[in-house]
Amino acid sequence: MSLKTFAKGVHPAEFKSLSEDKPIEKMPLPSEVFIPLQQHIGAPCTPVVEKGQMVKTGQVIGKSGGFVSSTIHATITGKIKTIEKFPHPLGINVPMVNIMAEGEEELLPLENLPEKWENASREEILDIILRAGIVGLGGAAFPTQVKLNPPKGKSIDTFIVNGCECEPFLTADHRMMLEQSQELLTGIRIIMKVLNVKRTFIGIEANKMNAVDTLRQATKSFSEITVVPLKVKYPQGAEKMLIDAILNRHVPPGGLPLDVGVVVQNVGTTIAIAQAVTAGKPLIERVVTVTGDAINEPKNVLVRIGTSFQQLLDFCGGLTNNAAKIIMGGPMMGVAQSSLQVPVIKATSGIVCLSDKYTQAKPIYPCIQCGNCVSACPMNLLPTRLARYAEVGNLIMAENLGILNCIECGSCAFVCPAHIPLVQQIRLGKLQINELKRKSKSI
Ligand code: SF4
Ligand code: SF4
Repeated sequence: MSLKTFAKGVHPAEFKSLSEDKPIEKMPLPSEVFIPLQQHIGAPCTPVVEKGQMVKTGQVIGKSGGFVSSTIHATITGKIKTIEKFPHPLGINVPMVNIMAEGEEELLPLENLPEKWENASREEILDIILRAGIVGLGGAAFPTQVKLNPPKGKSIDTFIVNGCECEPFLTADHRMMLEQSQELLTGIRIIMKVLNVKRTFIGIEANKMNAVDTLRQATKSFSEITVVPLKVKYPQGAEKMLIDAILNRHVPPGGLPLDVGVVVQNVGTTIAIAQAVTAGKPLIERVVTVTGDAINEPKNVLVRIGTSFQQLLDFCGGLTNNAAKIIMGGPMMGVAQSSLQVPVIKATSGIVCLSDKYTQAKPIYPCIQCGNCVSACPMNLLPTRLARYAEVGNLIMAENLGILNCIECGSCAFVCPAHIPLVQQIRLGKLQINELKRKSKSI
């Protein structure tokens, strides 16, 4: 049977065997955490606590009044040492609440939960998701209550669970599908109620057939939920590619999944919704894959948000002597780190530790017009021309050729024999165009 997929894309080596068979381990509580007050796309949070104050796990420490906003909670019980700027994994300094563990660990659950979620209104459920601080855990960190509340005029008929985890090395979603299938099922049913949809697809790449089997078994009494194995290809887990593969619907350039009647949520996000709505658990921890050839004990770890990368890597046996590069996320779209003192954030799906074997700089040559990048681009763009226009500052041509539709998947750079840093150049062009647009709006 041929598996569903999308057009184009690439086939990087998987490297998942390092951690795919490792059950999720709960890391002991860290001695201190650094919790950024901005962990989602949208308005940053304002602290509602003070230096020196005692807080309990789950206590709200940051709130935002914007529509696209989320809530930030204390992730350990202890005393607030300071609230100031510290380094963030995205390479900037942002305000963080630094809590030192003190006293007995105590979790404050969310209040005002319905006795049975089945009897709650969609507004009540969306309010719980907002108060629980749930954002997209696949890496985008978009506030989930906003995504589940499409604007008037947008009709949603399908919910898709993204179980692709197409980035090499990462296995956290795979383990959650195997170990938390009942919570995932509950999360799906809650989301179907909120969206008022009659069907759900769970898309899983065919390199995780044990997860396909587990979820088919878990959902066998629910005819409205279908598990769909998909061809192993990168970036199968990008929302537009997932919708294309499963439904053969094409999100228009500049559009969103809701423009074709679809909402997509990642596995971890769906489970977090179940935990918040049924048990009142705010988003204080997440599963992170710590892997690569430069970590001594690759693992899938349930870790408190705000734990430093250093503490988490120590829990995994520490780095090997030849460690050369640490990446937050996967190697295709992740962000290289210059310090291990940065904290795990809600968007930290993995930490990939690579030795010098995989990180030697390759010489960059002029473009040989081979067309590999065009053949690989899942968004049907012309990466070589976009990168060139961005590099020379011809932003009008770059925008005319659709640079803003680039999803920064890295497929073009992956196949480029000249090792041209296509994505960096395109990303820079996008940043410059968006900055110009922002300035022209504010005039
Ligand atoms: S141009 Fe953008 S969307 Fe196309 S392959 Fe390159 S990074 Fe991916
Ligand atoms: S893959 Fe590299 S060398 Fe080939 S056309 Fe694209 S940019 Fe040029």
